[in-house]
Amino acid sequence: MKVLIVEDQQRLAQLLKQGLTERSYTVACARTCREARDALCETAYDLIILDLGLPDGDGLDLLREWRKSGFKEPVLILSARDAVQDRVKGLDLGADDYLSKPFSFEELLARVRSQLRRQSEVKETVLEYRGIKLDLLSHTAHLSGQPVELTRREFALLEIFMQNPGRILTRTLISEKIWASHYDVDTNLLDVYMSRLRAKLEKSQEKPLFKTVRGVGYQLL
Ligand code: CA
Repeated sequence: MKVLIVEDQQRLAQLLKQGLTERSYTVACARTCREARDALCETAYDLIILDLGLPDGDGLDLLREWRKSGFKEPVLILSARDAVQDRVKGLDLGADDYLSKPFSFEELLARVRSQLRRQSEVKETVLEYRGIKLDLLSHTAHLSGQPVELTRREFALLEIFMQNPGRILTRTLISEKIWASHYDVDTNLLDVYMSRLRAKLEKSQEKPLFKTVRGVGYQLL
């Protein structure tokens, strides 16, 4: 389970990181909005713990931005702002939970567990987008009702896009998910797989399904 902590107070961030790491979570930290944006572009997280007062902006703006661009990862706000209207605003903007500082670490842990549990319960098993239907249980794919034969890797690749429609996925993120270690992977391999997916799924050039974002990655349109 990967957790991203967005928190500018170094000491608190360290304590959280240490506590979560001891309980077998993989933890990354970001101190600013900018670092948080970069971190989220690079890696997929299972949960984000978000402070609101950050040196280069407001965590609520980050949250708004993420939800607008389709990020579905659960966000737990951890903030000193504890007025009811702050909580309401955070939750309305798409936060999944709100814990005010000061807090007890045990309570934070319980809330983290609860978020992760909920997330695994609601994980959809059939993904549908632009006429593509992907059944994650039976591992079958359909395009406009017609079955499409996909290899295991092609299926995994398509699944990442279907989980994140409209979002630009970096080559690093995709490779990390598909191949255990992206360092071993010849990056051309990803392009080979992408062209195979395109050949199987893009019915006409006027309506492309994928966009190549030069130097960055790919996007399911
Ligand atoms: Ca802060």
